[in-house]
Amino acid sequence: MKKLREIEFGCWDVDGVTYDFDAYEGFHDICNDACAAVGHLVLPELDLEESRDLGIRSYKEHGNCVGAFVEWAAQNGRDPIALRDRVFENYHRELLTRVFEAHPHFCAPDPETVAVFSRCADFMSHGTATHASVEHWAKPVARTLRLLPYFNEAAMIGLKEANFDLKSDVDTAVRMSIKAASADPHRTLFAEDSLKNLARQKELIAGLTTLFIHHGRPLESRLPAYVDFQFATPRDAMLALETARITERRLIVAPR
Ligand SMILES: [Mg+2]
Repeated sequence: MKKLREIEFGCWDVDGVTYDFDAYEGFHDICNDACAAVGHLVLPELDLEESRDLGIRSYKEHGNCVGAFVEWAAQNGRDPIALRDRVFENYHRELLTRVFEAHPHFCAPDPETVAVFSRCADFMSHGTATHASVEHWAKPVARTLRLLPYFNEAAMIGLKEANFDLKSDVDTAVRMSIKAASADPHRTLFAEDSLKNLARQKELIAGLTTLFIHHGRPLESRLPAYVDFQFATPRDAMLALETARITERRLIVAPR
């Protein structure tokens, strides 16, 4: 437990970590519908199906929600960066509305999670490294979970802040988050549901403690070297951190 009790900063992925996709029926269809609607709105020459295909291809081939739109713009004489930025922000805004329409209790706060974040607030702060929009997704999700007060908002980094660099490639987002929090990478946890992202960040950031969040689908064989710990939920991770700290305090005051 040595590493956990030294943690002072939590850098969290959002999607698949702060909530479980599988808990919300049709979540991926809602994403595709939102992307189709926004693509069609921004590029009226695309019909909904063409726009939906660009959205699906973006995730499949580019690992984000805009890659295929950028490609389309380059091939069709449009400004790729302007299109990317319009699709990115509008997509997350649209997705937020549609997800709450379909699932009014999306990201309902869990009192135990809120309580453990609160109890740990004297020794720990939090940020994000997400491929989503901070303004139109990460912050609203954290606010709905009632966890936003425990986050350092300057350390909430999304794909746009990270110059659209992917966590599977480079350490831009995680490094920016750590820097904005004035945190020490050796006292930072990075929590993810993507093994690819965990592997890359572990390789690039010396001292980083990596957490795989599995929502009931744990890695069953030996953990890969780039995963330090696995937990079902952020609540379980935070309870383990709290326990590690308390154990340390008790050890310090224990009489000989
Ligand atoms: Mg994720």
